Amino acid sequence: LSMSVLLLFSCSSEKTAVTTSSDYNYKVDSLLSIMTLEEKVGQLNQYSLGSEFTGPSSKKGQDSIRYQQLISGQVGSVLNLLGAENTRKMQKLVVEETRLGIPLLFAYDVIHGYKTMFPVPLAESSSWNLDLMQKTAAAAAAETAASGVHWTFAPMIDVTVDARWGRVMEGAGEDPFLQSEIAKARIKGFQGSDLSSNRTIAATAKHFAGYGYAESGKDYNSVNINNYILHNHILPPFKAAVEAEAASFMNSFNDINGVPATANEYLLQEILRNKWDYNGVVVSDWNSIGELVNHGVSADLKNAAKKAINAGSEIDMEGTAYVQNLVDLVNIGELKESIVDKAVRHVLQLKYELGLFDDPYKYSNIQREKEVVGHESHYQLAEEMAKESIVLLKNENELLPIKNTNNIAVIGPLANDQDTPLGNWRAQAVSNSATSLLDGLKNALPNSNIEYAEGVKLSIGPNNFFEEQLINQDDRSGFKEAIQLAKQSDLVILALGETAYMSGEARSRADIGLPGLQQELLKEIHAVNPNIVLVLMNGRPLSLSWEDENIPAIVEAWHLGQKAGDAIAATLVGDNNPSAKLTMSFPRHVGQIPIYYNHKITGRPSTAPGMVFYSHYTDVVNSPLYPFGYGLSYSEFEYGEIELSANAMNESEEITASIDIKNISNVDGKEIVQLYIQDLVAEETPMVKSLKGFKKVDIKAGETVQVEFKITKDMLSYYKSNGELTLEKGAFHVFIGPHSQVQNYEEIVLK
Ligand code: BGC
Repeated sequence: LSMSVLLLFSCSSEKTAVTTSSDYNYKVDSLLSIMTLEEKVGQLNQYSLGSEFTGPSSKKGQDSIRYQQLISGQVGSVLNLLGAENTRKMQKLVVEETRLGIPLLFAYDVIHGYKTMFPVPLAESSSWNLDLMQKTAAAAAAETAASGVHWTFAPMIDVTVDARWGRVMEGAGEDPFLQSEIAKARIKGFQGSDLSSNRTIAATAKHFAGYGYAESGKDYNSVNINNYILHNHILPPFKAAVEAEAASFMNSFNDINGVPATANEYLLQEILRNKWDYNGVVVSDWNSIGELVNHGVSADLKNAAKKAINAGSEIDMEGTAYVQNLVDLVNIGELKESIVDKAVRHVLQLKYELGLFDDPYKYSNIQREKEVVGHESHYQLAEEMAKESIVLLKNENELLPIKNTNNIAVIGPLANDQDTPLGNWRAQAVSNSATSLLDGLKNALPNSNIEYAEGVKLSIGPNNFFEEQLINQDDRSGFKEAIQLAKQSDLVILALGETAYMSGEARSRADIGLPGLQQELLKEIHAVNPNIVLVLMNGRPLSLSWEDENIPAIVEAWHLGQKAGDAIAATLVGDNNPSAKLTMSFPRHVGQIPIYYNHKITGRPSTAPGMVFYSHYTDVVNSPLYPFGYGLSYSEFEYGEIELSANAMNESEEITASIDIKNISNVDGKEIVQLYIQDLVAEETPMVKSLKGFKKVDIKAGETVQVEFKITKDMLSYYKSNGELTLEKGAFHVFIGPHSQVQNYEEIVLK
């Protein structure tokens, strides 16, 4: 029966016509009409299953309840099963053994690459290069699809203003507009123009919503925000994801305004379905339905299941709430079957869109897997992206690029490390497969005398995703050798920061300085040789006040992926001119957090001389150490005056703002030109300014380029706390400049 059902519901009979959503609707409805309630609930059940469930010889899997559920149609999607062969086997099992033979969906967290690792998302976001980010997502999708997986749980588009939160490495930082643009680029990259192609995968906008505002930056913590923040900072990237047709949304773990996101009708119904008209599927986060009990809003799993499905959480990821309770809930009259149907419809629709009813095995092709996964062109792309993601934070006396230096000391726990650059969420990357900074430098500077000393160990405990890191707090045995080496060298390159698993999920830190003894080593080396280039590898903004005051050159090299060492070395020697800019503010002190450029204006904002009673600290100045949008280059750019096509506009008009930017250096470079707008008077307290546009432009040495932005009414609107998009007449300041602390503005009026 199952094969005939497959044929009946496949799209092949209409191959000649373009398949439209109404074709899917018809097929989905027909399939739904012959499904039992148990089969429907099965489609909403997602387990994390390994390959022990696929082979006839693997007893372990087959003796389990989950295996029985799998072959009786009680599992609709599977997480973490990988490989063309494994996915083919499991698909075959389900297609052939279950009554209806509905194919499985295979899902996996492909956050910044499948086997080829690209820079972590926060690093990529610093490039502000949307095309390139789309390309890395497409390459990651090609590798993932070739290994039989249909669906990634990415991109993470949580706006966040707290660098203590470990998951900042997975997103694009603090700005809702930039986060939205990047969300669209990544979704397009993953999904391509045709979801049914076996080179693309379905994307997930996560985590909906508020997860980036976990209180105190502590992962999984409650979220306490006001509605202005919700509508103006948190929700816009998700709205952008709907517009980019993200195939799925994922809940977040946190509660928000007292209701866990997984059971939050306001978010899932009012906003997502009613206001945005979203038609994709909503998956819970890992057991987040079951966790409604832990949150204290449900007494048991049955109530949790009822609350979650009624709110609009459709797939239960790695939980048992749905599979154990939904059938019962319907049978005893506590849940309408139509609610279950609605959720199942979305799951089946995705399976259609992916082409799984045409050919359930189309993604699982062993030959293609061999050809595509880890393809050389992906490594090249990883290097290109890494080069565009490096942020030059400081370069005093033009210490960089390195010139004619003979004796170079390369020091630090991350200098000869081939693993850290792979970052957290590394999917199927081979451990220790990145290029190290030391090797990169040796290749880039074959005539220099390069010597290496580790200096200090960063962690002495387990270095993997599943266990806490033990930071080295007292082993200084490597100091002496490193200090001696620094003393006798012309230049010291110090690689410090965080190992891969010091950021990421469940990796919040209360102190975001250099962990362990690294700063102590840095200070001792500085005392004998201040000629230091500090190369930072980390997954979050760090507090670097001492470093900024004392070290002449600082390079933010994040966790840059596969080709990190080559990309950093190329940058240090000047083969690559750094062009990236920060997408999260770096504080002077952890106590300034949350710190972000687009904060609200207060009643006491003044820094007028002699004024005491204004909003500030008595021990740290208000500004961040490095602001949002900041990054240096080996080129020097001079901004001209802003020219406006008009000083006033009405709602149906636009104003063109243009500016000349001259590269006054003798090095070709790229500049990220940023447009910010400030609403001077509004009904609700406005932000000091918000990013509304940007352009990354190539400017040759000595050349002047004119950059233009069209100011539209959309750029002048904001969300009121009640969620309404509002446009208010009045004056606005238009800033164009190299970072968020730009002072150069012109005034316009909306009539
Ligand atoms: C994370 C999600 C992820 C899921 C599946 C959860 O712990 O919060 O972002 O997609 O696990 O691995």
